[in-house]
Amino acid sequence: MNETIELGTQNPELVKKAINAVLPPSVIGIIGGGQLGRMMAIAARQMGYRVVVLEPTSNSPLGQIADDEWNEPYDDEAALTAMLGFADVVTYEFENVPYAPIRKLASLGNLPQGELPLVVTSHRLREKLAIESAGYKVAPFLAVMSKDELRYAIKRIGYPSILKTSSGGYDGKGQWVLRSDADLPEVLKIANDNEYVLEGFVDFTSEVSVIATRSVNGDVEVFPVTENEHVNQILHVSIAPARIDDSLRAEAESIARGLIEKLDFVGTLAIEMFVTADGLVINELAPRPHNSGHWTIDGCTISQFEQHIRAICGLPLVKPEIRGYAVMVNLLGQHLDYALSAWQKPEFSDGKLHLYGKDEMKKNRKIGHINFVGNDWGELEAKIEQFLIGFPR
Ligand code: AMP
Repeated sequence: MNETIELGTQNPELVKKAINAVLPPSVIGIIGGGQLGRMMAIAARQMGYRVVVLEPTSNSPLGQIADDEWNEPYDDEAALTAMLGFADVVTYEFENVPYAPIRKLASLGNLPQGELPLVVTSHRLREKLAIESAGYKVAPFLAVMSKDELRYAIKRIGYPSILKTSSGGYDGKGQWVLRSDADLPEVLKIANDNEYVLEGFVDFTSEVSVIATRSVNGDVEVFPVTENEHVNQILHVSIAPARIDDSLRAEAESIARGLIEKLDFVGTLAIEMFVTADGLVINELAPRPHNSGHWTIDGCTISQFEQHIRAICGLPLVKPEIRGYAVMVNLLGQHLDYALSAWQKPEFSDGKLHLYGKDEMKKNRKIGHINFVGNDWGELEAKIEQFLIGFPR
């Protein structure tokens, strides 16, 4: 089933890793059954791969379309051992998969990304230190592990600042904004034995992200820079290409390429950045396809999901090229009814709807997205404005 492919890398370490391409109908194992895994699996199944998912909750978004769903915890060593033995290649769809059992068991199967991306990106402090040591800029930050350290960090960093949990936070969860001493008592209550990072507030003009993919044979491709608008710290709209000048665009792409190589990651790395008067500041990394790259499914020569599958299977990467302009509107639980009624109208029928098969339509929970693509930016922008007129907040 497997066949040797020509290697495209000069990195001897990676050349050693890449011996065979994993070809369809091989089995891809995915740890985590959420929407990112689902969209990876849709791309994989289209190419003829079979997919098995390890996910504690049954009938997960990915489980619904996988060939098989194994309902065990992510750190269940017996299940991981079985997955590594059963699948021809294994990947993960989110960064909070416990890395210790993965490190322990990776030698039992083909897990080309290894545990390194999880170790770095599941911990905010480690992530920031890794970015800085690779030579890139982050917001001013200090580690906070006690109330005294929080007081000290505020003295050094000042207001406004944001306290963020070092692990487990996402979409603004586990974050507290400090604007003045008045906010301190509330935040001091939570700054106990957990690990936090106090981050200076960045005065940004816009937020952008870049998704880089590095194949097991060392090739790197970078998706067009995307501009992101958040509402309540949750991604609302992504616009590609980002409306920034060409020098910043080139810098953002070069940061993405540089980071994935310097960190020696395989697979997908999403890099969120703030655009400031002094240039780009990196906010956050994710070692997986990212919400801000969902437009690539309909608006690009290759989707971030197919590219990820190609990367871990050792297939040549495709150069991502945007088809005109693309806008993705994120759909949260409270948006579903509106989105379905708008999507039925002829003027929005070209919107590509992607629903994730979530069992509950909870408020502020990501349940899908809709992509609009066009060759004329003015027309596309007007259509998005129309679409968003009645959008519930
Ligand atoms: P995060 O979960 O760290 O990606 O934060 C979610 C959103 O909060 C970001 O996309 C920004 O809009 C905002 N945010 C986070 N950190 C900062 C910061 N240091 N300065 C300004 N805004 C921030």
